[in-house]
Amino acid sequence: MAYQVDCSEGDGFMIKSEDEQEVVEHVKAHAKEKHDMDLSDDEARDMIQ
Ligand SMILES: [Zn+2]
Repeated sequence: MAYQVDCSEGDGFMIKSEDEQEVVEHVKAHAKEKHDMDLSDDEARDMIQ
């Protein structure tokens, strides 16, 4: 099963991977760079669909 996150801000960011931790790291980096948000691992994991 693949893990996927679409950015809720509607900016077209999407990450999909078999590796949950990789998805979490990408989501955290995107949130920090584009939205100036510091997500915890748990918060990033909650966004996985
Ligand atoms: Zn975004």
